[in-house]
Amino acid sequence: MRSHINLGRVFGIKIGLHYSWLIIAFLIVFSLSAQFHARNPEWGDGVILALAVLTAILFFVSLLLHELAHSVVAKSRGLPVREITLFALGGVSQIEQEPGSAKTEFWMALVGPLTSACIGVACLALVRVAGEASSPAVAMVSWLGYINLALAIFNMVPGYPLDGGRILRSLVWWKTGDMERATRIAARAGQAVALVFIGIGILQFFSGAGIGGLWIAFIGWFLLQAAGESHVRAGLKRAIEGVRVGDVMTLDCPTVGGNLDLQHFVEEELLKTGRRCFVVLENGEVTGLVTPHEVKQVERARWPFTNLRDIMRPLEELRTVTPETPLTSALEMMSRRDFNQLPVVSNGHLAGVLSRAQLLSFLQTRVELQA
Ligand SMILES: [Zn+2]
Repeated sequence: MRSHINLGRVFGIKIGLHYSWLIIAFLIVFSLSAQFHARNPEWGDGVILALAVLTAILFFVSLLLHELAHSVVAKSRGLPVREITLFALGGVSQIEQEPGSAKTEFWMALVGPLTSACIGVACLALVRVAGEASSPAVAMVSWLGYINLALAIFNMVPGYPLDGGRILRSLVWWKTGDMERATRIAARAGQAVALVFIGIGILQFFSGAGIGGLWIAFIGWFLLQAAGESHVRAGLKRAIEGVRVGDVMTLDCPTVGGNLDLQHFVEEELLKTGRRCFVVLENGEVTGLVTPHEVKQVERARWPFTNLRDIMRPLEELRTVTPETPLTSALEMMSRRDFNQLPVVSNGHLAGVLSRAQLLSFLQTRVELQA
């Protein structure tokens, strides 16, 4: 989800367009033009193309409204929303925290399909008022109406991580009071739904539906991946329940001076110690972190002339955790932001560093001992 175009902010939420969406936009424009052309060749090529493009844009807007509904409810319930990204298979709202209660989850999930359903019904009502005349505008609104209704229905399929799966999870959670168990059940349902999609897709493909069938199978495959991941994550969460950052972090994080140049840093520290994360100290104060990632951004020829100070990630830009932070929240933060390290700060002082590598070896030990 990295490579995307930034579209600005709505309600303070960043909107991003993943490049894969452009493929879908192209397919929509292409198939709509063909459809309009077949039914109403008298409209002319210019009108048909403009209409197809406008329809694709409005489809994009309705997807965005669906995601905004999720995000606005999340925000109103105090959950931070980082970004909405639209990609080939729809939209994703990156909500930075798990919902605190089953009720929050329920409403957060429901408003998305509800929004799509409302848009769909409103469009079809407009078409009825217009009296089914076959004008370009009516054709467009009618297509948008059906596609939004289809979106609402598809999203209500009870397989996690679809909205319907989230609703299922919230209901099981509400009934049992056990969020992890609810996640596992909803993820299992998600896997079952995904397999059905793949089955239908393959059957359709072989009975002559062509690309349409493959497309359904592909959506199923995508769902299978996502549901499997949620299932693993739920198990992982159980394994590290009650563990705090302080139990896992390294205390002896190597320190380096801010005015050390990259050439010496790589030769004397990075390659000799085999460590991946260094704390930059200036006048006894922690000012930032340096990892191989930052070093790689600088051309090799410039290494002797570049100081660590210039390339480090300054402390104020880093998300930090405390030794008391639950490991589950730290893990969530690392995976959402794709961080490999988190500085652990206690009373304004660096207490240690939590790294992905450590987390993995910790989990491995746990799993080995449980087996
Ligand atoms: Zn949704």
